[in-house]
Amino acid sequence: MKIGIVGLGLIGGSLGLDLRSQGHHIIGISRQEETCKIALEKGIADESSTKLEALSNAEIILVCTPIAAIAKTIKQIIPYINPETIITDVGSVKYHIVESCSKLWQNFIGGHPMAGTAESGINAAIPNLFTGAAYVFTPTKESKPENVEKLKAIALDLIAVPHVCDAKIHDRAVSYISHLPVMVSASLIKACLQKQPDTLQLAQILASSGFRDTSRVGGGNAELGVMMAKYNRSELLRSLYSYRDNLDGIIDLIEKENWQYLEEILTNNGEVRPNFLN
Ligand code: NAP
Repeated sequence: MKIGIVGLGLIGGSLGLDLRSQGHHIIGISRQEETCKIALEKGIADESSTKLEALSNAEIILVCTPIAAIAKTIKQIIPYINPETIITDVGSVKYHIVESCSKLWQNFIGGHPMAGTAESGINAAIPNLFTGAAYVFTPTKESKPENVEKLKAIALDLIAVPHVCDAKIHDRAVSYISHLPVMVSASLIKACLQKQPDTLQLAQILASSGFRDTSRVGGGNAELGVMMAKYNRSELLRSLYSYRDNLDGIIDLIEKENWQYLEEILTNNGEVRPNFLN
């Protein structure tokens, strides 16, 4: 299949690597000649260009730009493609994007591969990023079922697990498991920096796997974090308030030295955590 990828950063580049290795013909589009060159050298694309005309024969186009640029990019692509071309995006929020982009292109279906790293740009692209990860699609009532099936097949080629749901429900769910963790992790790093210099220095020396795990998403792509907050504001606030209530509850237990109930919470958490990770 001829697949266009617009925006050759971490996600666009990683998609190119894996889809190309599955035999798809990848047309990579970047705003920069240098990135086009790297895309060919790294095996991310079969052909690469800064010109949107190169997408004229693409059957599916994956828009992999930052969230704020997705609708604008689709508007720019439209004059060069045929009416049957399926456009999807990879943005981490869906409702806002689906609302605006479905109006621009009738064969638009929102998408979100649920995998990433703390890096960004084409040099951060890695193979097998999506293996075993969920890949969400958020069609509307007007979306053609055969288009959804074609996108699900792309997800399966990535060894990802396709999942179809409503855009609003997607945004509510990811606010808890993806966007909230970014803000919690960011707050953790910020809290650590507020220590006395000698304590801070020792903390930096002692920090190990626990801190690496809990701080990873708070120390990643800042632009992406702001976009999550801006475009999923109400759901993120809802999850942050819920988190704050739970944190206050834990503070209260510690202040009251209610070790038994604290242990019950931690024990229960240990039991339910695998439900999120399998
Ligand atoms: P990234 O590494 O920064 O890549 C984004 C690419 O988009 C850039 O490399 C650039 O490519 C292009 N771009 C940047 N600004 C642009 C603009 N104003 N107009 C048009 N193109 C622009 O970011 P990413 O992590 O791959 O994120 C891309 C998308 O994936 C976002 O929508 C994000 O929500 C979604 N996503 C991210 C993750 C994650 O964990 N990082 C996970 C799932 C989904 P060129 O220089 O080649 O033009």
